[in-house]
Amino acid sequence: MHMIETLKLSKSDNWPIWGWLRRLVGICLPETPEVAKPLRPIVEKYFEEHPDAKDEVMKAYFAYHTQHIRDNPGAHNFDGPWRDCECQWCGRSRERVRWDDLPAQCQNQHELPDIADTIRSEEEKAFALLDKATREVPKLVAKLGMSGGALAVLHHTHGYDPETVDGVVNVPPQIMADYHTAMETERDRSRAAIVREVVTARTTGDSAANANA
Ligand SMILES: [Zn+2]
Repeated sequence: MHMIETLKLSKSDNWPIWGWLRRLVGICLPETPEVAKPLRPIVEKYFEEHPDAKDEVMKAYFAYHTQHIRDNPGAHNFDGPWRDCECQWCGRSRERVRWDDLPAQCQNQHELPDIADTIRSEEEKAFALLDKATREVPKLVAKLGMSGGALAVLHHTHGYDPETVDGVVNVPPQIMADYHTAMETERDRSRAAIVREVVTARTTGDSAANANA
């Protein structure tokens, strides 16, 4: 019976009682704006007399209809919209949050990184790379020369992509095109190397098996 009720809750917002539940939850959570205020005292009285009913509504709310984790401090961090999707923090699925005996809110919340801090840290990394490139790239170009192959080595081995290199020393368009050809060749070579490795392993295994036989 519980399963059937959950299916209806998760799949249909048109299910008539769901509208009622949502309104009820809106009254429990003051930040929800569309609450019909005159209902509040009636619902509060109802929940006072039937505390289990409030728990049920909160369980359904946190399992299926909480706002984003940045907006609601109790929200789970589910990895998708389906019943078996799990919270990345506490491991409970939506289904478990709805029906287990734990509180509806997430019990293992992580602090969210501040967006401004994240951007600042990315900027700092980019400036640090550019700073290092300004010192290192001219030396490397002096050693390796300026060619498509040299750009590929700078990228693969030293971590300076062609745009960063171009920001330090001017890269002519033709050499940039040569770089893409060189990278394509490198990719083909890597793929071929992977195939060869597998064949070798099999041959060795067979030989060993034959030798032992
Ligand atoms: Zn959780």
